[in-house]
Amino acid sequence: MDILRTITELSHAFGTSEYVLAGGGNTSCKTSETLWVKPSGTTLGGLTMESFVAMERARLARLYEAQTPSEPAAREALVKGLMEEAVRPDTPGRASVEAPLHDSLSARYVVHTHPASVNGLTCALGGREAARRLFPEALWMPYVDPGYTLCMAVRAAVQAYRSERGQEPRILLLENHGIFVCGDTDAEVKAGYARVMDTLARVYAELHVTAKVPTGEAPAEALVARWRGTLSEALGLDASAVVASGRFCAAEGPVSPDHIVYAKSYPFEGVLTVENLRAFVEVRGYAPRVVVLDHAVLGVGPTEKAARLALLLAQDGAQVKRLARAFGGIRYLGDVSRAFIENWEVESYRSKQL
Ligand SMILES: [Zn+2]
Repeated sequence: MDILRTITELSHAFGTSEYVLAGGGNTSCKTSETLWVKPSGTTLGGLTMESFVAMERARLARLYEAQTPSEPAAREALVKGLMEEAVRPDTPGRASVEAPLHDSLSARYVVHTHPASVNGLTCALGGREAARRLFPEALWMPYVDPGYTLCMAVRAAVQAYRSERGQEPRILLLENHGIFVCGDTDAEVKAGYARVMDTLARVYAELHVTAKVPTGEAPAEALVARWRGTLSEALGLDASAVVASGRFCAAEGPVSPDHIVYAKSYPFEGVLTVENLRAFVEVRGYAPRVVVLDHAVLGVGPTEKAARLALLLAQDGAQVKRLARAFGGIRYLGDVSRAFIENWEVESYRSKQL
């Protein structure tokens, strides 16, 4: 079908590292009856026309009327069940958790990504004010927990936008998260992205803010081997793999949901001893995925892939932190928001898929 071909092409066009990392971002297309959405735990760049999960929109609509429990775990379980019932039996996979949000926007194509350059705006203290000035046509969404809560907040905000301006927003900027661009044609989606990316590139250039994160020389292998020993003694299997980069100025707190999923909320930053690492685990409740030392930043994880992704997201977080200086400096997520992601079954499913 033509719309599936178009959304696959759009997924590839916006599935590059400029827009998303790892399994981040999601895309969809729709008719009045059916929503086709990216499966959870897949990458945009790897999608084919056959990979999309087809959902019955009439069944998804029951979600918006449901009386949901206020306790997050019970609410998520109910939502997950209703979403599963909406999936057409002939399509495999688990729909992206953002499927109901995609369904709630009436445009034919919806492309959601997390570009570092956009997050320099959405994760900044002055992001909302700057967005109002630079993108008056966009809808700014203050941070809410992703998934069902975000979907319901977007539905209300889109309705308010529509009654005020007579149409739906084509660009949604999500605080500490990323961007949604909608369009009825691929050209509309591309034009929406070009408008945002070009405007931000111009503003960063005017303010002499560059995206390139200054990074020191890679540490000697002998040093890395010694760190590996300490990490493994303190963290066991959680430090089965360690990858090293030269030192850069890493984010010191939770930047966005994806940063928490792949790199955890906080890096370990201290003298690397077994006692210090154990103190971190004791207080934070998890083994560190990112370790910041005097002359290196390490990605640490149970597998090589997990360690690499942790370092990749740490580098992205550093880039976001750097770019956010253009808009007043970085704004980290608060404890309640952070804890929701840390305990979210959906996200642990997604990171396991990779
Ligand atoms: Zn997202």
